[in-house]
Amino acid sequence: MALPLFFLGKLPISVIVLVASISILSCAIIIAMCTWRMAWIIWCHHIIVTSRQTTTSQTTPPNRGLDGKILRSLPRVVYNLEVYGKKLTECAICLMEFVDGDVMRVLPHCGHGFHMSCIDRWLECHSSCPSCRDVPVYGTMS
Ligand SMILES: [Zn+2]
Ligand SMILES: [Zn+2]
Repeated sequence: MALPLFFLGKLPISVIVLVASISILSCAIIIAMCTWRMAWIIWCHHIIVTSRQTTTSQTTPPNRGLDGKILRSLPRVVYNLEVYGKKLTECAICLMEFVDGDVMRVLPHCGHGFHMSCIDRWLECHSSCPSCRDVPVYGTMS
């Protein structure tokens, strides 16, 4: 144990001061980095929590698909060129033109029509019209 003290005693005072200040400085840098990292983590967490709160507090219902019962209650029609030809020409989901006899659903609010199989699959995971984003059964969502 005598050696380090003896060694220190032989060193010029400026070197001891230099080594001490370097170690104090590096400690300070490490502490500052830790503090910065903590502040960054807290800030990120704050942003995530805030954005979650704003997305859940929107006035429109979340886009998670319609209840099966509501889906089945939507009007179902058989396509007829003479009746729907001017209003409805093609399904915006599969981009196929409607032909006589196609079974389709016409959404109550916006009047957009789609093949029943296409719109049923769409509304299982979305709660709005694929053409105009109108909510077909607004108010009946829980
Ligand atoms: Zn279709
Ligand atoms: Zn629509």
